[in-house]
Amino acid sequence: MAAESVLTGKCALVTGAGRGIGRACALGLAQAGAAVAVAARSRGELEQLAAEIARLGVRALVCPCDVTDREQVERMAEATLAEFGKLDILVNNAGAAKSQAFLNHPDEIWHQMLAVNMTSAYYVTKALAPAMVKQGGGRIINIASTAAHVGARYVAAYTAAKHGVLGLTRALALELVGYGITVNAVCPGYVDTPLTQIAIDNIAKVTGRSPAEARKALETKSPQNRLIAPEEVAAAVVFLARDSSFGINGQAINIDGGAVQT
Ligand code: NAD
Repeated sequence: MAAESVLTGKCALVTGAGRGIGRACALGLAQAGAAVAVAARSRGELEQLAAEIARLGVRALVCPCDVTDREQVERMAEATLAEFGKLDILVNNAGAAKSQAFLNHPDEIWHQMLAVNMTSAYYVTKALAPAMVKQGGGRIINIASTAAHVGARYVAAYTAAKHGVLGLTRALALELVGYGITVNAVCPGYVDTPLTQIAIDNIAKVTGRSPAEARKALETKSPQNRLIAPEEVAAAVVFLARDSSFGINGQAINIDGGAVQT
């Protein structure tokens, strides 16, 4: 049985749900009572997650999809609407980060980072916002990053993409407000996920530090000297998804222990 019921009767879709923040968001929404469609590229991870969601007493739908491919996104949107008949909550979470010094930056990394972090949110929102317009309401929640607010060395493409996601969030918040839809961004600092583990391994490799020292270097970016847990990001997503959060629109909620204060 669902532990809470604040989202009972709602239907959600989470992209990049196979692991990390997306997985935590899918479980958090299901624990709050929502039926959840889970999208990512690896069917195996999604099926495991869907089984976990079903054990919570809500419906789960597995949608294998590369969110950088517009046709796959359209099929995912059709499958979700065919199964649920509506969509109340969209979480654009899929993303990736590659670090590279700018002066020898391959164009490929630039295009990849924009495609997976920013254009994906455009494709998925474009495919599903009409259903929310038709039903007269919805919640769109984009997982951006503190990199949507501030720059950092060696992540120019990722930073540009996340600034773009926040721009899209703010523009759509105003454009869709008349249909009862809110659009917000959640901006985490470093979160304890497989993505951050890759960053830790990379720092250790490039600097010769131990993995523990590399992890500490990321922890100290937060005034709380720690990584954020994926469940903390999920809690903010569930909060924004509630009916009672209707007044919160066009906002960027930072979850970073206070590192960035804009
Ligand atoms: P992760 O690598 O642990 O998980 C990312 C998920 O996205 C995976 O399920 C992966 O399969 C999926 N994905 C990647 N490319 C995809 C594609 N083309 N199509 C469909 N699915 C795809 O990452 P995470 O740390 O959980 O990050 C999730 C989101 O949070 C990303 O947008 C990331 O930029 C953002 N974020 C992460 C951190 C952090 O420190 N981990 C900080 C701020 C923001």
